[in-house]
Amino acid sequence: MNSEKIVKILFAASEMYPLIKTGGLADVAGALPDALLNAGAEVRVVLPSYRGVVEQLDSVEELISLGDIGLSPAVGEVKVLQGTLSSLKTIIWLIDCPAMFERDGGPYQDENGEDWEDNMLRFALFSKAIAMLGVMGEQSGWQPDIIHLNDWQTGMVAAWLHSWNVQQPKTVFTIHNLQYQGVFPAESLARIGLPQELYSIDGLEYYGQISFLKAGLYYANQITAVSPSYAQEIQSAEMGMGLEGLLRSRRESLCGILNGVDSVQWNPATDRVLHTNYSKNSLAKRLQNRNELKARIGLRDGQGPLFGLVSRLTSQKGIDLFVEAAPALLNAGAQFAVLGSGDSDLESALLQLAREWQGEFAVEIDYDESLAHLFMAGSDLLLVPSRFEPCGLTQLYALRYGALPLVRRTGGLADTVDKQSGFLFENIDSGELQECMFTALNSYRDSLQSGSGEWEQRQQYAMEQEFGWGKSAQNYIECYRALGADLIE
Ligand code: ADP
Repeated sequence: MNSEKIVKILFAASEMYPLIKTGGLADVAGALPDALLNAGAEVRVVLPSYRGVVEQLDSVEELISLGDIGLSPAVGEVKVLQGTLSSLKTIIWLIDCPAMFERDGGPYQDENGEDWEDNMLRFALFSKAIAMLGVMGEQSGWQPDIIHLNDWQTGMVAAWLHSWNVQQPKTVFTIHNLQYQGVFPAESLARIGLPQELYSIDGLEYYGQISFLKAGLYYANQITAVSPSYAQEIQSAEMGMGLEGLLRSRRESLCGILNGVDSVQWNPATDRVLHTNYSKNSLAKRLQNRNELKARIGLRDGQGPLFGLVSRLTSQKGIDLFVEAAPALLNAGAQFAVLGSGDSDLESALLQLAREWQGEFAVEIDYDESLAHLFMAGSDLLLVPSRFEPCGLTQLYALRYGALPLVRRTGGLADTVDKQSGFLFENIDSGELQECMFTALNSYRDSLQSGSGEWEQRQQYAMEQEFGWGKSAQNYIECYRALGADLIE
């Protein structure tokens, strides 16, 4: 193998910051490709051309037409557009198919929060187009050595490549969240034109249906999860979501690589949306951000500490545990700021607390990127009480901004927060969460009252933790090379 050859990676994702984002995957797709490029790889990112994406690009042109790509019902001509974004070095490819992607609403759900009814067809189309790009280097002018797949929306790429007996790139499939499995009726196979023989327990079959996620887990050459702990946890019946057997059987090809933080986007010394910039040597300035945050969301002056929470509001994130645990802390004078949106029952429970504890417990039911930055700069602690957490990014942002994370010891949270940089509790239990919050509250107040500076020392230690993308990119490149990424000429 010639280690001098530049590895070419087609990085496939269904969302990418700043073009389209619902969660951590977008942050990864917006940062890892440039980190891979800086580490010496050649990279293209490919994502669906959702409404509004083209308009955000600085330049765009048609790269190639894939024609009618043979799904039923027919979806019309599929084109690949090539574009650039001034904030990114990586070239962007968009799969353009107006019937599937040109609509109002989110990438996976309509404006009412319901999954799009045709998600099966939409992401089958996306995946087939990516697979075609993997074997059409002569026509597109760029032949990838590796296709890096992310989550269920891209899982079927591996199934298509498997079904084509031609020279093809190797595939790496990254699990960002095993809970979302892309499960559809078995008849879907005929509609998307894949051979019926793939409908097998040794293939796409999943409890009488087919799973796009399983396609990636079964057929990709290598699997990664976004933290070493999560890579282990998902091999257990407790956390494998029905796929633990398959994951155990593939354990030789499964590793964990931690996500990083985009240190340009998330830097308290230069972050333009903060009230006041600061560093670990000027922590007193954080106070102005806390005051700004309190004013923005309607919190009174209080003894503190101020607990922040920025999250999708779902059961995964342990929001119900938080709702149970918070009142005792409020009685003790703690304050809370919550930013999130998601399940309506969790939204209601939080709004109810905000009504009962006006001025002490504030909730913004919203998705607001700049407010999330102010939360990191203004909160004393950031809560992440997740039931499971593949990697988690908010605790990494919190560390960089000197808000000490209070997390459940699971997945990527266990891999990135220690007793000095934050607070950890063990079990999915609101009592344990509450106890841990009291420990944090007491530690905060003791430090303040005694003037020991212990809290500031912990903040400084937290801010010194290194979670850059450089190391992750190196790990991914090793993973590509181990697959013989240099073999395609
Ligand atoms: P997940 O991908 O499971 O939602 P992560 O912690 O990996 O969790 O990533 C979540 C990302 O989404 C972070 O960048 C976080 O700041 C952001 N985020 C979540 N909820 C909100 C919100 N309501 N407003 C702004 N940003 C949010």
